[in-house]
Amino acid sequence: MDLTAAQQVLKKNFGFDDFRPGQRSVLEHVLAGDNSLAIMPTGGGKSLCYQIPAMLFEGITVVVSPLISLMKDQVDALNDSGIPATFINSSLEWPDIRERLSALRRGDYRLLYVAPERLDSAGFIQALAQLPIDLLAVDEAHCISQWGHDFRPSYLALSTAIEQLPTHPQVLALTATATEQVARDICQQLQIDPQNEVNTGFARDNLDLTVVKDQDTDRYILDYLEVNQGETGIIYASTRKEVTRLTKLLTSHHIKAAAYHAGLDDEVRQQNQEDFLYDRIQVMVATNAFGMGIDKSNVRFVIHAQVPGTLEAYYQEAGRAGRDGLPSEAILLFHAADLQIQHFFIDQSEMDDEHRQQAYMKLQMMSQYANTQDCLQQFILKYFGEDSEPCGRCSNCQDHRQAQDITEEAQKILSCVVRLRSRFGKGIVAQVLAGANNQRIRDNHLSELSTYGIMRGTSQKTLTTLIDFLTAGGYLQAIGGQYPTLHVSAMGAQVLKGEVTVYRKMAQRVQRLAPVDDGLFQELRAVRHDLAEEQHVPPFVIFSDQSLKAMCEIMPTDDDAFLTVKGVGLSKLTKYGAAFMAVIRANKAD
Ligand code: ADP
Ligand code: ZN
Repeated sequence: MDLTAAQQVLKKNFGFDDFRPGQRSVLEHVLAGDNSLAIMPTGGGKSLCYQIPAMLFEGITVVVSPLISLMKDQVDALNDSGIPATFINSSLEWPDIRERLSALRRGDYRLLYVAPERLDSAGFIQALAQLPIDLLAVDEAHCISQWGHDFRPSYLALSTAIEQLPTHPQVLALTATATEQVARDICQQLQIDPQNEVNTGFARDNLDLTVVKDQDTDRYILDYLEVNQGETGIIYASTRKEVTRLTKLLTSHHIKAAAYHAGLDDEVRQQNQEDFLYDRIQVMVATNAFGMGIDKSNVRFVIHAQVPGTLEAYYQEAGRAGRDGLPSEAILLFHAADLQIQHFFIDQSEMDDEHRQQAYMKLQMMSQYANTQDCLQQFILKYFGEDSEPCGRCSNCQDHRQAQDITEEAQKILSCVVRLRSRFGKGIVAQVLAGANNQRIRDNHLSELSTYGIMRGTSQKTLTTLIDFLTAGGYLQAIGGQYPTLHVSAMGAQVLKGEVTVYRKMAQRVQRLAPVDDGLFQELRAVRHDLAEEQHVPPFVIFSDQSLKAMCEIMPTDDDAFLTVKGVGLSKLTKYGAAFMAVIRANKAD
């Protein structure tokens, strides 16, 4: 298929030279008139797959999207690129909606964004039926499937709505997270021939995955933010209480942070989200209520302070880092105890038994992800049914220290627990190993044990940490309430017999994400910030970080050179070229 016309729109309106391979395949299906399904990772470039056809088709492209809070920004961004678009959702009053509908009938717009809830209304479907709709793009299409992690009942109205449209528009479904089961469900409900499914894979080459186990959450986050000063990111926690606590922690350390969870007033929530989108705050601390489609492109890190309930949810939330393609990080801070919170959520939910069992299994997978010693990226891809090589970038691929073998130490500790006949807690175990001499040891004749003092020279504190590690790893079990006693587990017994080797990762040090930004980049960022405030749009609507970085490299000072910058089309050149080139010229002159 000839994509020349599409290529022209790509250059003129979006400022890009080439399609990504996945976009090319999707466009071929869409322009051939097929119903199709695009599965691409976050940041893969799904939006262009319907925005470009919208410019090429005669009629209107309707985009169904659950991201009401973002519609205005998306529409602003399109208008800014010279593509006439509008939206209709619950934030508008009737007169305004009527006005937009008549403008649509006049042919003033190429794209219309609507919330799925609209499709429940017969009146609205009637209004749509009067429009020349060519294409219906269904964003976040996994919401249609009950097997997905984000099922939305209003999506079920989609197929009925399509049947009622006299133009019988073709359908393009898009999602970043679909297991095979979910993909089948989407195709079936939206009448997409599975042959027209384009799946570019789930790998995110610019996203480095890290799991950090059993480290102090607050310390880690504060260290991370200190090392990565000025970088923007999201910190997820499972409960509102923890979100509030972490937000306080950060603000008390003079970090510009705000909270987002369902318990906040709508107004506060809106304001915090806007502050984040507009780069007025650096860190958003949030529950999973935040982020469905936060397409702020310059999120550099996503830290999960607590483990989420499924790998789908984890990867989707983690994937909000690095949509602009620049190196970014997704870090999971794992404490086995946090699994209990998710367990509780599942226990409390109103799922039927089948779904409940599935939810427990998904949580189990999440826990395996946190505990695997294999490539993290590979683990996730395999979960989505995709084979791959080790990524070479994640914390497991990078962790050459993981070969540290502590089997001998483990055996000493475990045998001491056996000698103590599981009657004591970790304090006494550590004292016996270290060869301490106190009243309790003497009263119980513990110095007569063969394991007494076999780890003399190691501090009791280090020994306690080692015991905690063996407990977390399941080699030891702490049983009982306030003063638990230690017991050797079946796996611990295997260690004693020499059948299992014990490895331990040392504390992970925090590393800086990317080289320090240079001065020009900061100046361009300031220009972008001012323009954004002036026009009441988020900064990334004007230019992505990637475009600013490209300006720093190319240093364009005339229109032709400026047009070669990724993300600069004619419309952006006209609007912003002068302002940015003025700064670049001044820098060249220095
Ligand atoms: P998705 O919806 O799949 O998460 P987007 O459509 O938001 O991704 O695109 C992610 C980023 O990639 C955006 O900053 C977009 O401008 C950029 N992008 C999309 N297509 C291309 C392309 N062909 N060349 C360069 N950049 C692109
Ligand atoms: Zn890896």
